[in-house]
Amino acid sequence: MHDFKGQTVIVTGGTRGIGKTIAESFLTSGAKVIATYLTNEAAAAKFKQDNSQFAENLNVQKLDVSKYEEVERFFKYIDSKYGGFEILVNNAGIRKDSVLAMMKESDWHDVMNVNLTGIFYMCKFAVMNMMRKRYGRIINISSVMERYAFEGQANYAASKAGLVALTKALSKEVATRGITVNCVSPGFIATELIQDLPDKLREAYLARIPMKRFGNAEEVAACVLFLASKEASYVTGSVLEVSGGL
Ligand code: NAP
Repeated sequence: MHDFKGQTVIVTGGTRGIGKTIAESFLTSGAKVIATYLTNEAAAAKFKQDNSQFAENLNVQKLDVSKYEEVERFFKYIDSKYGGFEILVNNAGIRKDSVLAMMKESDWHDVMNVNLTGIFYMCKFAVMNMMRKRYGRIINISSVMERYAFEGQANYAASKAGLVALTKALSKEVATRGITVNCVSPGFIATELIQDLPDKLREAYLARIPMKRFGNAEEVAACVLFLASKEASYVTGSVLEVSGGL
């Protein structure tokens, strides 16, 4: 649908789940892709193997987005290897659900550190780089939970609502520099992230979705690629929901 030849894309959490499909969609559209992961070496190796036909355009890197120094080192490496990049997809995210009164302090901070602070770090270094080129596309993967905030997800919902606010503020700061910053906000997408849902909860969620089905990663990737395209030049600070009508 879109041609990304000559463009370089960073996808965090890009070796499994939604991120993997986003990374593969960019590869098949001609982009060079740097896909990052954190601990799942097996999934990263399989992703590399599955995409061996794109070996020249694919670079898999280990990166913890919640560590400031690691993020700083990562962008120095990208700069020296590629001389910059055009597109950043902040996809890495985690969930650690429990009702607030029972929530461990560490579960609150872990979710905030990855889903919100990590994206602040990634955006901070990315924007410095993109300003030099006066071009860039940043797509942050939020969640419809930023609007619905279901019980048991205070940390996750707050992190994703914060991410929408970060996106809107940053989009205004860089609007005259050729850089757009948007959110794609998925509903329930069939990946490992929601595999552990109890059957009863799964049924209850399905009943609430007007389309009566979970979405798939391809449906999210299609929206990411649109916002990453040159054609989406007048779209910034927006939240594109992919939720089957939730
Ligand atoms: P997933 O299958 O659990 O994958 C999460 C990815 O994030 C993995 O690649 C993981 O790396 C990486 N990651 C975790 N912590 C990290 C850290 N500290 N630094 C860097 N990378 C880290 O999740 P998903 O379902 O594909 O979700 C992707 C995004 O969509 C998330 O932001 C999620 O909140 C959002 N989302 C998902 C749904 C859904 O229904 N699935 C709905 C709404 C929003 P490893 O592979 O090394 O573990």
